[in-house]
Amino acid sequence: MYKKLFIPGPTHVREEILEAQAAPMIGHRAKEYSELQGEVRRKLEKVLYTEQPIFLFASSGTGVMEGAIRQAVRPGKRALVTVCGAFSARWHELTVANGVPVDRIDVEWGQGFTPELIDEALSQGDYDAVTITFNETSTGVMNPLQEIAALVNEKYPETVILVDAVSAMAGAKIACDAWGLDVALGSSQKCFALPPGLTVAAVSERMLKRAEEVPNSGYYFNFLVMLKKYKVDQTPATPAISLIQALNKQLDDMLAEGLDNRWARHLEMAEAVRTWARRYFALYPDERFLSNTVTTVENTRGISVANLNAELAKRGAMISNGYGSKLKEKTFRIAHMGDLTIADITWLLGEINDILGLE
Ligand SMILES: *Cc1c(COP(=O)(O)O)cnc(C)c1O
Repeated sequence: MYKKLFIPGPTHVREEILEAQAAPMIGHRAKEYSELQGEVRRKLEKVLYTEQPIFLFASSGTGVMEGAIRQAVRPGKRALVTVCGAFSARWHELTVANGVPVDRIDVEWGQGFTPELIDEALSQGDYDAVTITFNETSTGVMNPLQEIAALVNEKYPETVILVDAVSAMAGAKIACDAWGLDVALGSSQKCFALPPGLTVAAVSERMLKRAEEVPNSGYYFNFLVMLKKYKVDQTPATPAISLIQALNKQLDDMLAEGLDNRWARHLEMAEAVRTWARRYFALYPDERFLSNTVTTVENTRGISVANLNAELAKRGAMISNGYGSKLKEKTFRIAHMGDLTIADITWLLGEINDILGLE
């Protein structure tokens, strides 16, 4: 049976989008392709509030996280990685794996970062880059990105700001230029509500200058290599043409919905899930850092999340268990991202109540 996905990626993909993805193939050096990429670029500039380059990578988000950290740190300098859950910890892991000198700052899971915490950490080293996970999908924490970026830009002008916005981009406002973000990346299978395989990355002019100063920073994810072809609305290697065709259609629908309406819809769905979670369970994250796109619920009733999902499957829905050994069965996650509606959420919560016998 078809299951509607209320998991934090891949998310539910509408029929029209699947159809757009099945359009006939075009050559990636042909004029039609450049026109397609140009159209997509202009629409993405609106969604990401930027006039700087936006690159399209045939990769999941992790690839671009790796590429970004490799070209952000000059010889002799360090990166600061902020860790508040499993996905931000991954950024630390891949920074170490690439031999980039790194320090990490942790907060307890369920907590987020304040500008004050970031300030204290940055003041103690010579950092060329700081990584921020806008929306930590394991704990359901949304960090105050705008405030953090304002602090970094004001006090640490040499430090580029690398943002994993994988589970927030296209579901929450990210004003790349006004907030002064250097790299903001998002994967297709989350709030863009497309199949997986494509990553969108907005990259600042400042980041491009930084990349020029970093030797041996790779090829496939190299922003300067991308930039050359970007100028003619192409990519150096073969792009994920089908996904970009689907993205073009999705961007039309997003702009027709209205961006402010889209952000408001995500918040409305989040609030519905939070209200339900407070009533029957508890919220896992600190109330100051609640995510607009995914809610992590503390399993205060000790239900079997696996059984709940098995029952939901019979009714055509799927939620997520807690992330990793630390949170599995102790929490569960309801994603409210992409093209889901408040009606979908109301239906899901009703089904869960019915299965668990909650009133
Ligand atoms: C899903 C997710 C990732 C991993 O993205 P992929 O596209 O699977 O590589 C990274 N960070 C966050 C916050 C995520 O939610």
